[in-house]
Amino acid sequence: MKILITGGAGFIGSHLAERYLERGDEVYIIDDLSTGSMENIAHLKGNHNFTYYLDTVLNQHLTAELVDTCDVIFHLAAAVGVKLIVESPVNTIETNIRGTDIVLSLAAKKKKRVLVASTSEVYGKRDQVPFRESDDLVMGPTNKGRWSYACSKAIDEFLAIAYWKERLVPTVIARLFNTVGPRQTGRYGMVIPNFVRQAILGKEITVYGDGSQTRCFTHVSDVVGALMGLAECYDAVGDVYNIGSTQEVTILQLAERIKALTNSESPIVFVPYEEAYEEGFEDMMRRVPDITKISNLINYTPKCSLDEILNSVIEYQRRKLASEEMVPDFRRSLSPATN
Ligand code: UDP
Repeated sequence: MKILITGGAGFIGSHLAERYLERGDEVYIIDDLSTGSMENIAHLKGNHNFTYYLDTVLNQHLTAELVDTCDVIFHLAAAVGVKLIVESPVNTIETNIRGTDIVLSLAAKKKKRVLVASTSEVYGKRDQVPFRESDDLVMGPTNKGRWSYACSKAIDEFLAIAYWKERLVPTVIARLFNTVGPRQTGRYGMVIPNFVRQAILGKEITVYGDGSQTRCFTHVSDVVGALMGLAECYDAVGDVYNIGSTQEVTILQLAERIKALTNSESPIVFVPYEEAYEEGFEDMMRRVPDITKISNLINYTPKCSLDEILNSVIEYQRRKLASEEMVPDFRRSLSPATN
């Protein structure tokens, strides 16, 4: 098969590309490197089945060509990360809504199959867990940046379903819950890479709020399997599916576990939300998916435990930090003063 992955140099996209290449499929990616990186796909560049374009999906000529070439499209290109979203709301809304509209309208011409990646953020501040796909979405006010992200992804979902109902484009929506693993960067606020880096470097581990909020973390390998399963299952079309794990952990327990697994001396400190994000920031206290729907459809069960997830991130961050340390030495050796 020929697979197009928008946002293919991102954390999840690069793992998805890798898995399809391992299977022998042809993979095309388009990524503007806004949050993705060349480092994520460096190991794929020698593969003759892999083609990458450093561009935005808003470039309609290129996107049209790629959509025409491919059999299945994974639309992963989006503004991600709570910190980034709160800081750049205009870019978030534009990237998410325009990008999805362009991909779907191009896919409509030849009725190409499209998987649209959405997020558990669309459940908003719903406080009854677990979250079911048919549940009402509970949004906050429009002057709080976080909800613009949730709403922009909800619009993406409406669009995908509308394209199926009205124009018979076979779309499917995946609502991703806290995906983690190697290659995820902490730069945009994601908690596990942040805590792991802080712990390894002996810096303060920054728990926002009182740490009693919970999340369920899923390893990227489990998520990639589920994305492929959904995209390749015709019965999934026109519908929404949660992808996540049901193993719930508080953020404080998470900090303590990471500290223990890294043998770190780092102190755990509490940072008020308004200091971490913005005045009036609203967090979700619990976020647990109901995964009955996807389990029944494609037999999905996440396999990685929390410790396995954390160990894979710790190993990755240790390697990354070691290579970052090498850079100044390398530069120093090139400078005339030391030669
Ligand atoms: N968080 C934290 N310290 C950090 C980064 C995040 O305590 O350095 C908290 C954050 O406030 C949230 C949870 O960890 O309650 C998960 O945050 P993340 O941004 O990873 O995902 P999301 O909020 O989208 O679930």
